[in-house]
Amino acid sequence: MRATETLISTLREVPADADIVSHQLLLRSGMLRKVAAGIYTILPLGHRVLLKIEAIIREEMNRAGGIELLMPIIQPAELWQQSGRWDVYGPELFRLKDRHERSFCLGPTHEELFTELVRQEIRSYRQLPLMLYQIQNKYRDERRPRFGLLRGREFIMKDLYSFDIDENGLDLSYRKMYAAYNRIFTRCGLDFRVVDADPGAIGGNDTHEFMVMADTGEAEIVFCSACDYAADVEKAPCPVESQTAPAALQPLQRVRTPGTHTVSEVAEYLGIPAEQVLKILMYVTDDEPVAVLVRGDRSLNEIKLKNYLHTNVLEIADEEDIAGRFGLPQGFAGPVGLGGRVRLLADNETKNLSNAVAGANEPDFHYRNVNYGRDYQVEDFADFRLAQEGDICPKCGQPLQLKRGIEIGQLFKLGTKYSKAMGANVLDESGREIAVVMGCYGIGVTRTLAAAVEQWHDQDGIIWPSSIAPYEAVIIPVGQHDSLQADLAEDLCRQLTDSGIDSIYDDRPERPGVKFKDADLIGYPVRIVINRDSATDGLVEIKWRASGAVERIPKDTAAAYLRHKLTTDDYPL
Ligand SMILES: [Zn+2]
Repeated sequence: MRATETLISTLREVPADADIVSHQLLLRSGMLRKVAAGIYTILPLGHRVLLKIEAIIREEMNRAGGIELLMPIIQPAELWQQSGRWDVYGPELFRLKDRHERSFCLGPTHEELFTELVRQEIRSYRQLPLMLYQIQNKYRDERRPRFGLLRGREFIMKDLYSFDIDENGLDLSYRKMYAAYNRIFTRCGLDFRVVDADPGAIGGNDTHEFMVMADTGEAEIVFCSACDYAADVEKAPCPVESQTAPAALQPLQRVRTPGTHTVSEVAEYLGIPAEQVLKILMYVTDDEPVAVLVRGDRSLNEIKLKNYLHTNVLEIADEEDIAGRFGLPQGFAGPVGLGGRVRLLADNETKNLSNAVAGANEPDFHYRNVNYGRDYQVEDFADFRLAQEGDICPKCGQPLQLKRGIEIGQLFKLGTKYSKAMGANVLDESGREIAVVMGCYGIGVTRTLAAAVEQWHDQDGIIWPSSIAPYEAVIIPVGQHDSLQADLAEDLCRQLTDSGIDSIYDDRPERPGVKFKDADLIGYPVRIVINRDSATDGLVEIKWRASGAVERIPKDTAAAYLRHKLTTDDYPL
């Protein structure tokens, strides 16, 4: 392919409203253009990436037994009313009416249509299991679309639905998809983790999220490098680490700690580690004050507290609340003598803390040698703390790491939620009607494209994994007007293409410097430069985008050499 035969439209400036790096780089590299808020045109270079991602997904879905079909974008309201979602979905659902005043929506998801299809077409258990999927546009009327393709109002998803006669069948379908997703994201060259989305649930493993590791991710993930454990930090359970033998209890001691309002201030003032301090956090829930103890070096996980209290209303108490409702001095509150005045809960870890330091409930004073049982009581101990880097892996005991992630895929066991609501039944072996057991499995296709850029880029531009790069190699002659160089470039491009390396010859009437900059920005894995000497010495210069390594190799062996490098682990992505 010649560059002048396609549309390459790069920008030097960072567009003003592009808020994150993938959005900026996709616009600058000429892969994406905005049409309206959260709605984009994917330009030819970006479209090649999209097609390659889709091809990988399609291959792996088919290999796992998925059957592809195509559902409409426009869905009738009746089906959504049957499932009960028409009234509860809220303003994110794009609703519209046809000329006969019949209501429709632009599908944000397709559970209703797939369930309806199975209700109409499947009669017997003999026709199951069945896994149907499509790659289709979805719509979500975000209040504030942002982050480019990561949170658009129109996006492309692969959604597969599995239909089985029982839970065992569902487990099997689920495991097939789990394995297929691992292959897909590995083949896309992504560094990802599989997060058990509900790690604390009894019987768990009913939903998993596939997360691409990237600093701009919306979720924080704790994961283990020694095993496959990974969990959303907000949901990760925190087992209490095994304790050394408890220290002998020392006598309670009231000490002056003037002006020490925070854990770090009091720890520094008393010359003790922060983990020896009992931190107390005050909240107001449903108009009732509640206080929670956590170790001084830990953070409280408000989601765990909300779940414990069975409430969605939880606000951290401000200074006025602390003085008014709790009757306590801010920064000097503590559990000693608090009994009866306020509901007091404590994180599991604090139970084993001996001879701790805690506020004395009067300004400028703390207690030393505070011990649970002797000096204070609590209503209950539970897991209230936020997981953090260095915590012990609950599976294997190694220290956990913490990174941000972007969700690109999810597996979910639906069970009979939709089939019961919509009457999708089949006859079992004994001729009895049973509800079909379902699972749904999504991949954000446009999201995967953007997430790949979030993960693989540098200050010069995108660094595409070779499997999804718009072209794997770009060929640039230094002297575009030198017909010898132009012929060599054209010839090499043909050789590479013939040997299966997706290549482009940059024949645009631009200076070499501009082409080099564009090559880095667009992120081709390999850049091949042809210069005046190439015609005589037969050598071309190869630069690897990921490592920056440069080498000179014979033009005639370039195709075989690159093929080998790109298909083995030599190319890092
Ligand atoms: Zn582990």
